[in-house]
Amino acid sequence: MTRSNVIVVGAGFGGLASAIRLQAAGQQVTLLEKRAQPGGRAGQIKTNGFTFDTGPSIITAPHLLEELWSGAGARLQDDVDLLALTPYYRIYFADGRYFDYGGTPQQVEAQLRSFDPGAVDGYRRFMHATRRIYQRAFEDLANQSFHRLSTFVKLVPELLRLNAAQSVYDFVSRFFRDPQLRSVFSFHPLFIGGNPFRASAIYSIVPYLERQGGVWFARGGMYSVVQAMHRLFERLGGRVRLSAPVEQVLIDDTKRAVGVRLRSGETLAADAVVLNADVTSAYTQLVPARFRTRMTDRRLRRYRYSMSCFLLYLGLDRQYPDRLLHHTIVMAARYRGLIRDIFDGHGLPPDMSLYLHAPTRSDPSMAPAGGESLYVLAPVPHLGAGIDWRSQAQAFRDRIVQFLEHDFGLTGLQESIRAERWFTPLDFRDDLSSYLGSAFSIEPTLLQSGWFRPHNVSEDVAGLYLVGAGTHPGAGLPGVLLSAKITSELIAQELPATMQPLLAENAAV
Ligand SMILES: Cc1cc2nc3c(=O)[nH]c(=O)nc-3n(C[C@H](O)[C@H](O)[C@H](O)COP(=O)(O)OP(=O)(O)OC[C@H]3O[C@@H](n4cnc5c(N)ncnc54)[C@H](O)[C@@H]3O)c2cc1C
Repeated sequence: MTRSNVIVVGAGFGGLASAIRLQAAGQQVTLLEKRAQPGGRAGQIKTNGFTFDTGPSIITAPHLLEELWSGAGARLQDDVDLLALTPYYRIYFADGRYFDYGGTPQQVEAQLRSFDPGAVDGYRRFMHATRRIYQRAFEDLANQSFHRLSTFVKLVPELLRLNAAQSVYDFVSRFFRDPQLRSVFSFHPLFIGGNPFRASAIYSIVPYLERQGGVWFARGGMYSVVQAMHRLFERLGGRVRLSAPVEQVLIDDTKRAVGVRLRSGETLAADAVVLNADVTSAYTQLVPARFRTRMTDRRLRRYRYSMSCFLLYLGLDRQYPDRLLHHTIVMAARYRGLIRDIFDGHGLPPDMSLYLHAPTRSDPSMAPAGGESLYVLAPVPHLGAGIDWRSQAQAFRDRIVQFLEHDFGLTGLQESIRAERWFTPLDFRDDLSSYLGSAFSIEPTLLQSGWFRPHNVSEDVAGLYLVGAGTHPGAGLPGVLLSAKITSELIAQELPATMQPLLAENAAV
């Protein structure tokens, strides 16, 4: 058996970030990824001169990436070129109006006045209220491991004071009267798989987070951040093995993780194992049930899972600069009803809300000259809704293209397509091993957050740790980067490093 101190299973953002942190702290880390490319949901497709990010495209809280790099003795700006976006996104409504969201407070307030002159005061109060939540919930609490119930219980009164028991939509409605503005300031939980009508008001901090840290794009696409993390980890001496699916975590008689067995039959020994693969699939498929008295299959299946996505990647031989900004959101006339259909429905909704990513607005190298690598995201129910994507994908794709061309105004869209791929909930399940094909794992609700969410350290098996979207604090790059920080700190408490930790000042020279 080959030996490492720590094995990380899965090279998503969470796996890469924890591998970097642990390697920089003096552990010898091996990172195993089942796919041929790192990044997980943050993958890349290159075809016919078009470059597509497959999943995340919006960078918020860039300080978390800077902190990751500086902890490894490096500087983010040497490896990644971040471009600030203004406005952050354009939001179109079904009546043809749009809201250019983001930029300076003055720019936002000018937009608000055009919707509702009274909204500026509401916006200022909303920012003030969300700053309070941000300082406590994001800066203090999201950094903590909630694997002990006592830590969580002590905070309950404070969480209630921060309106945690209220939904994001109800909280936002206290500040805005206009229904369209209520959707502008409440849709953000969707970015992390949350339902605005039941995600806790704690998740209403995103507009504040965006105003504080901006919204960014990495030149070359999100995948350039993944590649930079991969290189940083290898520079530190870490080992990456791609196309190396793990079949089982090896556990000894004392109920301690001692390594992994790959699907190839090869076994690798380690002092600790970190699972970044989707938490439910990882537990149910890689950790034998006889070792799990707390995280049983039954308990894992009882969680409520977030929605999935249908993703369409279109390489176009033209651009639509007047309709598409770098990030564009197209809202259907129905808001509450459509969200109910996506989270709790049993078929595809009749109408659609879409997110469109047109990265050539900021980086022309993402498509051949004059072309566009357009990515369309339609939120759809997860596989529990029983939709047969093998028979429905083509028709759904046609509906999206028809809608964009004839209703939204991307004239000539169908005939300008030069490259095309799609990714359905079945691919989330089969390619990314995501339970129920959910795009964001366990839904972020109050009773599935903090102590209630799968912990960053196993309650059943010693030496087994977890990181990523389904664990505390949750999905989205900020959440996942924080989970990597928590997990690596828990490991550092248990495992003495065997190599000399990398000190930032040494490495920077
Ligand atoms: C379409 C989409 C758009 C998004 N947009 C944004 C955005 O704009 N901004 C943002 O901040 N967040 C966004 N998110 C959320 C964010 O992308 C995710 O929360 C985050 O990338 C998840 O990272 P993770 O560490 O949990 O790992 P994942 O990306 O889930 O990676 C897990 C890895 O484990 C591997 N794996 C699984 N099983 C095994 C095994 N047995 N052996 C070895 N490897 C295995 C998988 O192949 C995968 O590579 C988006 C998500 C989606 C789906």
